[in-house]
Amino acid sequence: MPRIDLHTHSTASDGTFSPTELIIAAKEAGLVAISLTDHDTLAGLPEAIKAGEEYGIEVIPGCELSVKSSVGVLHIVGLWVDPYSKLLLETFKSVRKKRGTRNIEVVKKLQKLGFEITLEEVHERAAGTVGRPHIARVLLDKKYVKSFDEAFRHYLGKKGKAYVPKQSLSPKEALKLLRSTGATSILAHPALLSTNEEILDEKVKELKDLGLDGIEVYYSSHTPDMTGICKKLTHKYDLLASGGSDFHGSVKPEIKLGRGSGKLFVHHSVLDDLKALRQSKGLQI
Ligand code: AMP
Ligand code: ZN
Ligand code: FE
Ligand code: FE
Repeated sequence: MPRIDLHTHSTASDGTFSPTELIIAAKEAGLVAISLTDHDTLAGLPEAIKAGEEYGIEVIPGCELSVKSSVGVLHIVGLWVDPYSKLLLETFKSVRKKRGTRNIEVVKKLQKLGFEITLEEVHERAAGTVGRPHIARVLLDKKYVKSFDEAFRHYLGKKGKAYVPKQSLSPKEALKLLRSTGATSILAHPALLSTNEEILDEKVKELKDLGLDGIEVYYSSHTPDMTGICKKLTHKYDLLASGGSDFHGSVKPEIKLGRGSGKLFVHHSVLDDLKALRQSKGLQI
């Protein structure tokens, strides 16, 4: 049965596989299509598309945006983004600039906590969008922590000692941006937003009114219950279902491409349904 993965990261953001390596891994994993959805950048897309042609993997150009909502940070995956959209490129440039300021603040906090860490060391570990995973890498390499998880739990995560919130677009801005550039917008990993059905329902309704197209129903860490809740919400609010692993390579070694932690299966029909909606709206596929 043909399987796909519509949520993956490369070295253009905080993944450890280059776009070409990702496509080769997709081929080896028996996937027929993937979307590269790096954080706040389109830089990996041209290489992924080229490698996709070479290895016979369909590549849907994508991205992932963080937005701030009343219930916390939520992520929106954009599918069929235009890799050369001036508006998207300019917006991401400004978002990455804000990330730069935040990274400086996080490093300062860590220095105050007594860690010998510099911004240069963080940048040495990044090839594109720089973020907390690259800071975690330095902490790990210098043996200040034993795992990425520990770095986030003690220092970089929301309850960590060096936490600095990220400046982000509002849901309205993000959804408008994606829509205006012809992309399809998907609420990524809804369980990270809330596992409470009522809260999720309320949020999804709000996002639908702002132009959301779909929900990531199939996701690595979703329990069967969570998948069920998400499916129900797609029916209730006339949204599409998407699915992906959120593969990051060795940063999250427990997540395998196309298979998540083992049970994930995103069927090709998910992609067919997304394409059908786009075609009905006269959008490119
Ligand atoms: P940033 O975009 O700089 O805020 O960093 C967020 C990224 O950090 C997420 O997209 C994940 O890839 C990663 N991340 C968040 N929490 C953890 C964790 N507990 N362990 C490993 N990586 C994490
Ligand atoms: Zn990431
Ligand atoms: Fe995410
Ligand atoms: Fe992601």
